[in-house]
Amino acid sequence: MPYYNNSVIEKYPQIVEYFRSGINDENKSIGHCLLLWGGDITSQCEIALEIARMLNCKCGGELDCDCQNCRWIREQTHPSVKIYTRLDFKEASSSSDDEDSSSGKKNISIEQARAIINELAISSDYHRVYIFCDRDEEGNLLPINKINFPEATSNALLKTFEEPPQNTTFIFLTKDKTDVISTVVSRAQSFFVPSFCKGDDGYDIVTDLISNYWTFNKNEVLSFEEKLLDLISDNDALVVFSQIQNYMTETIKENFNNKVLFNKLMQDLKYVEDAKRQILLTPAMNTQTVCENLSFKLFLS
Ligand SMILES: [Zn+2]
Repeated sequence: MPYYNNSVIEKYPQIVEYFRSGINDENKSIGHCLLLWGGDITSQCEIALEIARMLNCKCGGELDCDCQNCRWIREQTHPSVKIYTRLDFKEASSSSDDEDSSSGKKNISIEQARAIINELAISSDYHRVYIFCDRDEEGNLLPINKINFPEATSNALLKTFEEPPQNTTFIFLTKDKTDVISTVVSRAQSFFVPSFCKGDDGYDIVTDLISNYWTFNKNEVLSFEEKLLDLISDNDALVVFSQIQNYMTETIKENFNNKVLFNKLMQDLKYVEDAKRQILLTPAMNTQTVCENLSFKLFLS
């Protein structure tokens, strides 16, 4: 199924431009392990393929370049650019990596990890790009999570992620960074990719709380915190925080050219993500403390 789509450049001009200048930068500011996150996995895959094209193009990554590498990547026949899912690999034996082989392959297995390591041991003329994600039988792309990319697979590849051979890039596609094994997240450069899809992106519960919050006066922080705590006493905290993120994401889409606001919202998305993680991973942590920290960060930074 073809996933490369030129329109990704119009859809995400800032992100594509960021990678273009990073790839052409002599200091190599783009790392070899990247994590794209957000609600739209297909768009993330398009961005990943565009990154692969810029890394492999022989003519500086020009948009309309027709060199063999660019052509192969557009047709998705490039020998060294791979969309890697649990389904795109035949196990040599019925492997013990899969707990229940009868219900189909559940994850990118250790055997698959070893195949990548073996492949990388042979030198290549191309820049190798591995795009890790999941897909269903129909070919719809799905995000990486802790089930389809488990700790055992991650451990088998850890050294490779840290010190890959030259001209190798790994790209993970996921919905939320907290869905990915932390050893991968800590080794990757993360990039938020806003979703333009309709669906699970409502923010009706939090509209009154959060609308245009960046225009609020700093001394309103305490009343903001109080309202936030009220909302959380009536709703699940994770739903409230996710809706706040949805609102921020929506606002980013509408204000893509406002650099100051864009940067603030990108930073604030991370603060809300931290709050979510604290609620998830440290249940002992007082909800009030999490809300207080978050309110102050949103208002005072
Ligand atoms: Zn080219």
